[in-house]
Amino acid sequence: MDFQLTPEEEAFREEVRAFLDENLPPEDQRGPEFLAEWNRKVREKRWVGFSWPAEVGGGGGSLMKQVILKEEMAKRKAPPLGTCFMGLAWVGPAIIEYGTEEQKKRFIPDILDGAYQWCTGYSEPDAGSDLAALKCRAVREGDHYVVNGQKIWTSIAMWSKWMILLVRTGTDPSDKHKGITCLLVPMDTPGITVRPIRNMSGGSMFAEVFFDNVRVPVENRLGEEGEGWRVTVSALAHERSGISEIEGLRRRLDALRELARRTVRRGRPAAEDPEVRRRIASIDTRIEAMRLNGMRFLTRQLKGEPLGSETSINKLHRAALEIEIGELALEMQGARGAVAGGAAAVDGGGWQRFSLSWPEVVIGGGTPNIQKNIIAERILGLPKDA
Ligand SMILES: Cc1cc2nc3c(=O)[nH]c(=O)nc-3n(C[C@H](O)[C@H](O)[C@H](O)COP(=O)(O)OP(=O)(O)OC[C@H]3O[C@@H](n4cnc5c(N)ncnc54)[C@H](O)[C@@H]3O)c2cc1C
Repeated sequence: MDFQLTPEEEAFREEVRAFLDENLPPEDQRGPEFLAEWNRKVREKRWVGFSWPAEVGGGGGSLMKQVILKEEMAKRKAPPLGTCFMGLAWVGPAIIEYGTEEQKKRFIPDILDGAYQWCTGYSEPDAGSDLAALKCRAVREGDHYVVNGQKIWTSIAMWSKWMILLVRTGTDPSDKHKGITCLLVPMDTPGITVRPIRNMSGGSMFAEVFFDNVRVPVENRLGEEGEGWRVTVSALAHERSGISEIEGLRRRLDALRELARRTVRRGRPAAEDPEVRRRIASIDTRIEAMRLNGMRFLTRQLKGEPLGSETSINKLHRAALEIEIGELALEMQGARGAVAGGAAAVDGGGWQRFSLSWPEVVIGGGTPNIQKNIIAERILGLPKDA
C-alpha cells in the first residue's frame, strides 16, 4: 500500500478543503435553503458522480481523488454529494455499464441533478437471499413486456418516480440465473400498486409493490434479455464496497465514548468501567481493521484489478459493529435505555432509533450469513453451501 499523494492530488485536497471552508456552515445552520444551494454548487463542480465518465456528465475523477473527496467531506460532516441515493449508488453505474446511448442520455443527467428518486425492485416474498429464485414474470408482447407479480421490502417505493426491476423472462427451470431480465419502470405505469410496510421503529420507508398486467416498453430494458443477473451482480458490488462508511462509524464511536464519559454507572462514569473500556477498545480496533481492509481493496483497484467478493468482508464488519455500538449505548443507559421519547430519553431517543434501524445496514444488500457464505466459498475456497 503506497498512498503517497502526487502534487496534483495534494492540490485537489486543498481545493476541497477551501470549498468546505467557504461553503459549509456549522451543522445547526444547515437549513433547506443551504441544502438547495449546496446541491447546486457540488453539481456545478462535477463532484456528484465524481468518478463517472465526463461524457455522461460525471466528474471523470480518479479513484484516489474520489477517496480524498469522500474523506474530506466525511471529516466535516458535509451533506451527501447528490440527492438521488439509489440512482447514484447502483442504478446509474448499471446504466453506464449496460445501458444504450439513449438510456444514458435519458436517465444519467436526472440522477446527477437529483431530479427524482429511484427504487429497487429485486426482493420478493420467496426470493431474498436466494434472489435468483425470483418469480415476478414478464412476457413479451410486441414492443412491450407485460409484467405480473410482486416485490417486497422496496425502499422508498412511495416517493420514487422510477424502479430498477428484476423479472423472469426465461422458462428454463434448470438454470435459474439465466432468464432474469432487468427493466426500468416508471412507477406511475397503470397496474402498479404500492402498499407501505410499517417497520419496528414505527416508520414506513419500504413497501410491497404489486404488478398487474403492467406494460413496459422494450426500450426500457437494461442490458439484453436474460442478462439481468449480470446487471444486478455488478450493481450490488457497488452497494457492498463500503469504504466511505468508515468515517461514519468513527463518528458514531466518538459519540459512544462521549456518552460513556457522561453516563454514571454504579457511582462512577461508565468510561471508567473496565468492561465498557474493553468493548470500546474492541470496536475501535475493528473499525481500524475495516479501514486497512478498505485501503487494501483500494490498492487493488488502483492497480486496475477488479474488486469482487472482498467487499463482503467490510459489509460483515460494518453489520456487526453497528449492532454492537447500539447495544453498548443502550446497556450503559440502564433502565433509561428502554425509553425512546419524552424528558427521560437520553439524547432525545437518538440511540434507541439508531439501535432499531440496524436491519437497514445488516439485512439490506445481503445478510451476514450470505456475506459469510461468499467469503467462505469465493475467498477461502471452502466447499459450496448445499
Ligand atoms: C431496511 C431494508 C431495506 C431493504 N430495501 C430493499 C430494496 O430497496 N429493494 C429490495 O429489492 N430489497 C430490499 N430489502 C430486502 C433485502 O434485500 C432482503 O431482506 C435480504 O436480501 C434478505 O432476504 P429475506 O428477507 O427474504 O430473508 P431470507 O433470505 O428468507 O433469509 C432469512 C434468514 O435465513 C438466512 N439465510 C438465507 N439463506 C441462507 C444460506 N444460503 N445460508 C445461510 N443462511 C441463509 C439469512 O441470513 C436470514 O438470516 C431491504 C431489506 C431491509 C431490511
